[in-house]
Amino acid sequence: MRILQIRKTDWAAGLEKSRKDHSLIGPVRERNNTSKFRELEVGEEPDFSITTTTMSPKSVVFPQSEVMFTYTTDKASPECNIMKVPKNDYSPRAIIGIRPFDAAAMNIVKKNFDTPDYRDPYWCDAYEACTFIGLAVTNPDSCDFSTSTNSGPFSTAGLDVLLVDTGDSFLAEVVTEKGASWMRSAGFDTKADHDAEETIATMRKEAEKKITSTVEFDNIDKKETLDLYNENFWESISFPCLNCGTCTYVCPTCWCFDIQDETAHKKGRRMKNWDSCMFPNFTIHTTGHNPRNTKLMRVRQRFMHKLKYHQSKYNQGIMCVGCGRCVTSCPVNIDIREVCKQMNS
Ligand code: SF4
Ligand code: SF4
Repeated sequence: MRILQIRKTDWAAGLEKSRKDHSLIGPVRERNNTSKFRELEVGEEPDFSITTTTMSPKSVVFPQSEVMFTYTTDKASPECNIMKVPKNDYSPRAIIGIRPFDAAAMNIVKKNFDTPDYRDPYWCDAYEACTFIGLAVTNPDSCDFSTSTNSGPFSTAGLDVLLVDTGDSFLAEVVTEKGASWMRSAGFDTKADHDAEETIATMRKEAEKKITSTVEFDNIDKKETLDLYNENFWESISFPCLNCGTCTYVCPTCWCFDIQDETAHKKGRRMKNWDSCMFPNFTIHTTGHNPRNTKLMRVRQRFMHKLKYHQSKYNQGIMCVGCGRCVTSCPVNIDIREVCKQMNS
């Protein structure tokens, strides 16, 4: 394990130095007491006081709305019927202060956008441009259950560097060559003291101890899919749901999108927009038939996908990193931990 030390007095200057070959993206507070990840202005620092941003950083690689290509159907134009892919900026960018559960979520989502058979160039090009500089969670939020989902407060899965805040300094565990390259460009090259590894291990244990919220899902994998699908509890679980889609929009592992053509006269553009399995129109067919035409079906689909189908398909745990965002954001308090308990019992 290679560990460097960054004095906080050198932090801001190092960030600015790294801009010569990276743009910087980090957590910031917005109005209305919300927070998200966005590009940092020159001189602006990521706000490390935020543990769980309202919106996850998934938009860094999966924008809420994205132009796939533009076209014209004007026969007088030499470009008639030619699809033109926009020149998107995929230059290197460092995501400063991404939390371990959100970095682990990138690995889960990657399984959907980058498969042996299919590669989504928009997602993959943006992902490959990123260097993930993580920040360990030392004061977990109350709904954090990431220790149950293998994406705990000091996990390095999906990260290039893990920063650990020790007060006056950060200890930086360099995980990949990409991470080492960002550290060099920031001028952070001071070797940490010999006891740094032990310090991180102790802090990790303390942080993990603070996470008291847990879920179990081993039995879900063993149960028959149809038995779970036909359970009576879906009626009571789905009853209060408003199908507002908030849980899916804030979730770092939700990847549903819709493709729409927006046309005006003879010009058009094809858009890739976030969508949600909780919306009635998500599954509607062109015939008008909707295979998930009730709220119960949509709520069941969300939880079956996250907690059952993902386990069955990949045998790599559930499609959830325990960030707790859907728990804190749901206006009617539908709690994935409670649903998981019912499905697992
Ligand atoms: S946030 Fe709550 S009410 Fe809204 S769709 Fe999700 S479960 Fe339903
Ligand atoms: S399902 Fe909820 S707790 Fe799990 S990753 Fe998504 S938002 Fe976080």
